[in-house]
Amino acid sequence: MNNAIQQSNVIRFNLDRPHELERGLRQAIANNFDGFSLHYQPQINLQIKSIIGAEALLRWSYKNESIPPSEFIPIAENAGLIVELGNWVLREACKRAFHWNATNLFNQLAFKISVNVSVLQLTDHFPKYVSETLLETRLSPDFLNIEVTESLQISNQQIIGILHILKSLGVSLSIDDFGTGFSCLSMLKNMPFDVIKIDKSFVDGLDQGCESSLSLIEAIVYLSRKHGMSTLAEGVESQNQCEMLTATGCDAVQGYYFSRALPVDEFERFMNTGV
Ligand code: C2E
Ligand code: CA
Ligand code: CA
Repeated sequence: MNNAIQQSNVIRFNLDRPHELERGLRQAIANNFDGFSLHYQPQINLQIKSIIGAEALLRWSYKNESIPPSEFIPIAENAGLIVELGNWVLREACKRAFHWNATNLFNQLAFKISVNVSVLQLTDHFPKYVSETLLETRLSPDFLNIEVTESLQISNQQIIGILHILKSLGVSLSIDDFGTGFSCLSMLKNMPFDVIKIDKSFVDGLDQGCESSLSLIEAIVYLSRKHGMSTLAEGVESQNQCEMLTATGCDAVQGYYFSRALPVDEFERFMNTGV
């Protein structure tokens, strides 16, 4: 009997969790984005063997628990909160990138920031918001990259039109998680993407001796280059993966082998001292 009550409480708790998190998200946003922060993961160019930028990844600390983005981003999307939250991410990341570039903190000519954008943010208002944010934060569009996850929606003509307007602002565009969704490379040639992010699942295959992962990566690298796009492999965790990717001609990588996504102060320390 006690067990049954406990069980039903657990179920009720789990069923209530998305609602509880939605309430928490609303409160946090209303409370000046309290509990949100950005972590930064370095992106490394394999040819010049140096860090060329970082991806900003959103973190949310709620009631002393770190809620993973894979859990709260879909809730924010379903609750109509993603535009407000995404706008905050973009502004914070641009501010940070301006500071890093203006102070030349990392001793390099250009440091690019990549920001994840939900397809739900890609409305007609978005390019204007991006352009205003660049002006307000004084970040040059050359230093901003926008990552959009591969999905069926991005082949929609209206979304493609918005991507073209973004491109005309001077920012670059990446297609994220490439290979997991519905796109094929021939379709991408009509889209204004600059970078193809090869999904971690292909990179994992390299360490498992999976021949098809290697040949798929080689094909993606070859065709991307032919269509004037570069490639970045995600989720690189070993030296072996890194060497194999270099051999395929892949342009850039990111992953735990180099560093996890780090809070600002740790990221700055990592950039300056390598630890
Ligand atoms: P993503 O954009 O594909 O980001 C890569 C995810 O893989 C990140 O997880 C990163 O921490 C993790 N990762 C990086 N390198 C490695 C590795 O070597 N091994 C493993 N196992 N994982 C690695 P995270 O930060 O939990 O983010 C998950 C997803 O949440 C992101 O996937 C992105 O789709 C979404 N996300 C994060 N921040 C934002 C944001 O500001 N806006 C939107 N719309 N989505 C976001
Ligand atoms: Ca991403
Ligand atoms: Ca990804």
